[in-house]
Amino acid sequence: MEKSDLVLLQHKVTMLRAEGKYQETIDAGYQLLKIGIKLNDYKSILTAHINNAASYYSIGAIEEAFRSIDAHKEISDKHGDEADQLGTYNILFLLYEYNKEYTDAKRTLKTTIEFSKRLGHYNITSNAYSNYSHILLEEENYSKALEMAEKGLQFAEIHEPVSPILKFRVKLNIAKSQILLGDIKESEALVRSMVNDPLLNSFIREKSQCYILQAIWYEEQKMYKEAFDSLTEAKVLVDSYNDVHLLKTIQQKRCVICDLMHDYETGYRVQKEYIALLDEIRDRDLVMSALKLNIKHRVAFIKGKADRDGLTGLYNRNYIQRKTNQWLSNALETAESIVCIAFDIDNLKSFNDEYGHVYGDEVIKSVSKVCTNILRSDDLIGRFGGDEFVIILRGTTLENGVRVAEKLLKAVRNLTVNVEKEITSITVSIGVTNNLYCDAINFIELFHSADNYLYKAKENGRNQICVS
Ligand code: GH3
Ligand code: MG
Repeated sequence: MEKSDLVLLQHKVTMLRAEGKYQETIDAGYQLLKIGIKLNDYKSILTAHINNAASYYSIGAIEEAFRSIDAHKEISDKHGDEADQLGTYNILFLLYEYNKEYTDAKRTLKTTIEFSKRLGHYNITSNAYSNYSHILLEEENYSKALEMAEKGLQFAEIHEPVSPILKFRVKLNIAKSQILLGDIKESEALVRSMVNDPLLNSFIREKSQCYILQAIWYEEQKMYKEAFDSLTEAKVLVDSYNDVHLLKTIQQKRCVICDLMHDYETGYRVQKEYIALLDEIRDRDLVMSALKLNIKHRVAFIKGKADRDGLTGLYNRNYIQRKTNQWLSNALETAESIVCIAFDIDNLKSFNDEYGHVYGDEVIKSVSKVCTNILRSDDLIGRFGGDEFVIILRGTTLENGVRVAEKLLKAVRNLTVNVEKEITSITVSIGVTNNLYCDAINFIELFHSADNYLYKAKENGRNQICVS
């Protein structure tokens, strides 16, 4: 297969999922996975895993979903770029939502939002806001849910290419928040236009959600007959893709509405359907509870790894950025000094060229190890990407920061890496600054300044420190 065909197949898998064609996504995903493995093409493997994970999750095949998530995480750690890392955070949300761990789910969504904005992946930003809104609705915080959904719509609107379903999904949450806030009039036009949107012919899940929304709208106005009919429409759709948990919610609602209408005959019939469904769910849940336990363990495992770089085990850029931003925002009040040390291995490319990539990897790992050894436990050290690292020291003066950098320079000079041959000529170039000196109020500004001094150290001949 030609490279261009492979890119086409990657695109197809992504598109199929965006269109909500989950079974087709999985079929094409496996085709892509097979070819990706054969050609050692990590982008294809990662694309296949992440789309399979989300599709399996959407059709309720939880075990397979988690298997794909694990596989994605493993490959992304070793071979992924920032966009793949974003995928990991994005999917981590599913784990938390599944376990109903809403605090962690919201924290992960915040990271996803920040990260996706930075990368300009506004479809993911929009989706994350939408999911955030969904959780707030579960928590009955309707005004905040509305606020989040509206932000989601803003990002759906600037996403290119234009994606009507992206906007539609956010609007579902906007309308639901409005209704539950009691804005019946405000939501009327929106609900009507959504129910009649021809887009829904290709999106059965959203169509069923839309009928449920309409039912809530009727119910809030005590129009019970209409609410019941909307729920029946939703039930027929949900039956066809057999999402038993959503069916349970619908059937519960239908029972309640029969009571409110004093229609006991229909109520009895719905109750019987509901009981049969509960039996089915109980059987499934027995299987699922064993599975859930397994998943709990895996969540803890993946959670621990999400903020780490796969090669070195150091923190990744995203974590360092998040943590440093917190520290810097406190420092605005306390005027605390926060030191940033940026450093980069000298001439790694020539080591790679001479001894091979595996050797280069060993150099990166060894450098990260000696640096970690000279730091205190509450200092932050991360791999920024490639052969560049960053250290953040909290409550340390610039002078003390330079002392740490000097120790580091020396420790690397004394380093010996032994793969097939012993090499001792490893050095790094270092840039040091602090927030007070460079007036940084966020990580990007602080790092940018340290990186400039690192660049000067390289220019001046490498193997040295340059300080602000
Ligand atoms: P300089 O002294 O200017 O830093 O030279 P350099 O050769 O180290 O070049 P630079 O820092 O600009 O680029 C980093 C090189 O390190 C590019 C690539 O060959 C190599 N590299 C980046 N990431 C990895 C990795 O994960 N493993 C290995 N083995 N090499 C890597
Ligand atoms: Mg380098």
